[in-house]
Amino acid sequence: TRRGDSGTLCVSPAGLLWQLRPSDVEVELLAHTRDVVSRDLPAETGLHTGWVENGGLFIASNKQRLDEYKRLMSLGKVYGVESHVLTPSQTKDLYPLMNIDDLYGTLYVPKDGTMDPAGTCSTLARAATARGATVIIENCPVTGIQVRTDDFGVKRVHAVETAHGTIQTPCVVNCAGVWARALGRLAGVRVPLVAMHHAYVVTERIEGIQNMPNVRDHDASVYLRLQGDALSVGGYESNPIFWEEVSEKFAFGLFDLDWDVFMQHIEGAVNRVPVLEKTGIKSTVCGPESFTADHKPLMGEAPEVRGFFLGCGFNSAGKRELRGSCIHTWIWMRRPWAHPDIAISLPSRRFHHSLTDNNRWIRERSHESYAKNYSVVFPHDEPLAGRNVRKDPLHEELLRQGCVFQERHGWERPGWFNPGGAAPVLDYDYYGAYGRQRHGDYTYNRLLGDEYTFDFPPHHDIIKKECLTCRNALALFDMSYFGKFYLVGPEATKAADWLFSADVSKAPGTGSAPRFAGEISPQNTPSTLEALFCTGTKVSPSIPGWDGYYLAIGGAVAQHNWSHITTVLQDMKFQCKLLDCSEELGMMSIQGPLSRVVLQEVLDTDLSNEAFPFSTHKITTAAGCQVRAMRLSFVGEMGWELHVPRADCVKVYRAVMEAGAQHGITNAGYRAIDSLSIEKGYRHWHADLRPDDTPLEAGLAFTCKLKSSIPFLGREAVEAQKAKGIFRRLVCFTTEEKVPMFGLEAVWRDGKVVGHIRRADFGFAIDKTIAYGYIRDPAGGPVSLDFVKSGSYELERMGVTFPARAHTKSPFDPDNKRVKGFY
Ligand SMILES: Cc1cc2nc3c(=O)[nH]c(=O)nc-3n(C[C@H](O)[C@H](O)[C@H](O)COP(=O)(O)OP(=O)(O)OC[C@H]3O[C@@H](n4cnc5c(N)ncnc54)[C@H](O)[C@@H]3O)c2cc1C
Repeated sequence: TRRGDSGTLCVSPAGLLWQLRPSDVEVELLAHTRDVVSRDLPAETGLHTGWVENGGLFIASNKQRLDEYKRLMSLGKVYGVESHVLTPSQTKDLYPLMNIDDLYGTLYVPKDGTMDPAGTCSTLARAATARGATVIIENCPVTGIQVRTDDFGVKRVHAVETAHGTIQTPCVVNCAGVWARALGRLAGVRVPLVAMHHAYVVTERIEGIQNMPNVRDHDASVYLRLQGDALSVGGYESNPIFWEEVSEKFAFGLFDLDWDVFMQHIEGAVNRVPVLEKTGIKSTVCGPESFTADHKPLMGEAPEVRGFFLGCGFNSAGKRELRGSCIHTWIWMRRPWAHPDIAISLPSRRFHHSLTDNNRWIRERSHESYAKNYSVVFPHDEPLAGRNVRKDPLHEELLRQGCVFQERHGWERPGWFNPGGAAPVLDYDYYGAYGRQRHGDYTYNRLLGDEYTFDFPPHHDIIKKECLTCRNALALFDMSYFGKFYLVGPEATKAADWLFSADVSKAPGTGSAPRFAGEISPQNTPSTLEALFCTGTKVSPSIPGWDGYYLAIGGAVAQHNWSHITTVLQDMKFQCKLLDCSEELGMMSIQGPLSRVVLQEVLDTDLSNEAFPFSTHKITTAAGCQVRAMRLSFVGEMGWELHVPRADCVKVYRAVMEAGAQHGITNAGYRAIDSLSIEKGYRHWHADLRPDDTPLEAGLAFTCKLKSSIPFLGREAVEAQKAKGIFRRLVCFTTEEKVPMFGLEAVWRDGKVVGHIRRADFGFAIDKTIAYGYIRDPAGGPVSLDFVKSGSYELERMGVTFPARAHTKSPFDPDNKRVKGFY
């Protein structure tokens, strides 16, 4: 809430609270926020927060939009959010002033409502002061931040200089909104956000509007919020105004509304509630707000300076997500407790440092996220903005062969291969905004658009072909976007023992099993995960007395892993370094029953089971180039990863493809990897595994060296949970009916909702839909394997349930024969 000179409230956010979002984490957080504002705070303080429970209505003008709402409805059941899909005429009964001529249907959430920002803030302040909190200094601009480098070369916050003097502190939280970039600069920290104008207008009185629900007309990109007997109208325009020169003296200021830009919202609003055409505008509210590249806030400790935390970039949702309590918890635990989605969205950790420094990237992506904020979230959509920033050594080679790229962490990685030919990603055209020319015939954009469906996508059969060729012959996956790090130094083994939950004590050249690092909290209670799919391999550095590990980590979380590992190395003062060679090495994975026969022609080493068993690696040569060959698989087949110096990648790639031609080798992308890996039961970080999951709940106890006496980060927490039992568990489901699922479907067990699906895909070898989700016992008991096996299950997709079978082992090759070379 911003206050004017007189102390009266002059600007407030619209305060809309919609509980259903296409993210389980956000649904949970919003439902929690609603409970606090509508129930807990009034109960604790005896004050009314100003909460108005007038309900929320989402408008669908087409089938895809209503399908999305039905998905939200199913997810809402998991969190107790009541919602109803209404026909146009039912909607008219509920909201008589609404135009329903172009309605396909609506989603009504009776317990949505409107927060009063001023009332919520003052009630929160009252509750906090009653519990002993004090506001020490108000109106106290920070003019400098003193950062010192400690004996280990780590930069730490030392003091804050303010207009009222210097405060010595090891901890600063940057909550400076659009000014957060400037404040970050004082400490040498990059804050990747942009400032934009964001606005709504308040209408004159409208007869008959009282008690109507708030409306979100996503297709028109507009919202209509009830404000007493009037409406406020706002939205997300396609051409938002960037605030280029962020003025220091504007904290309580407002901009003049640019009607040329805002008229698109008025047109959408008038179409939906025609009486608005004859209604005057009482006031306009246009303020500065910060936006980020992925429309999510920036939270957590910055990578550049220890003790410097971010709590900014709220993307016009700054009031909704009770960030105050979250920030407190982050500082205390150094990680978001209540918001796992943001836990892996920490500022440094979700954006690679080359991106946080790239103004073009930040600007383009923030624009696209803003303009598409109300777009349907389709499972296979990709951004058009900020592309081609990080290209791997095979990029041009694969592009010529029809590769349709996906963007992750700035990297372009292969999604799938289009038999129709090349589909390059072009420079961002801002969707024609700001007078730019829109790309006319844009193949990549057309291919994305073809997949805007919640049905099986039109490219289903192409993905199928890539998958089955891998299962029956062999496929080459370019995985060069992986992060590739060396952990080296006199205490590298000590550090690896502590960081990795798996036993890494094997001799160089023998160990390359997937490992992960456990997270630890100050109380050491939650045994949650911090990082995964870090394959750690012991290597021999040339410096006497040094040990080394080569780590390969999924590219989308490489920065997150990097930050986690360096933080632990700093905290534990281990004598070793983490070196990043991600850009210098390419990585191709050749998988399938014929991989050995083909690679034996290319690699100068014996690939037999005896000479090169599963989970080992060797330095060898391929096509005359030195490569590190690792016998590993993320798709459940016999196969090898080749880690190759950048300059040699094309040569090695061509040699493999040439040798494989007569055996039917194919290029394959990450869409195929997604399907093949779920079929085999391999976990994906961020989907099957997040920081709110534990190794035991995720079925990964085998990766924890509990049988050894070696201490590791999180060990006590894992042991404590093992002793107590687990109360949620990741379960694999298949459905008999071939129905497309993508995650967020509700899981029913014996007639009760027990969880939701985190990740789903189609498994082509078993010819079934496969879905993974965490389930709980509604009675609150432990979730044992017997509990899993004894239930009768259904998966609810868009309000329709499908009988499902729960598996306690992977439905494909449960005995792990194929990865070991036994076909
Ligand atoms: C028109 C409009 C409608 C909105 N509607 C909604 C909505 O419906 N729901 C919702 O949840 N959100 C909404 N928002 C967004 C919400 O208002 C913001 O996300 C939220 O207010 C941001 O809070 P903040 O504390 O991060 O930043 P701010 O409120 O901008 O506070 C930043 C503070 O930092 C101070 N500062 C800057 N530099 C320094 C320095 N060097 N030293 C000390 N202090 C400094 C500034 O003076 C300022 O007080 C809306 C925003 C706008 C503009």
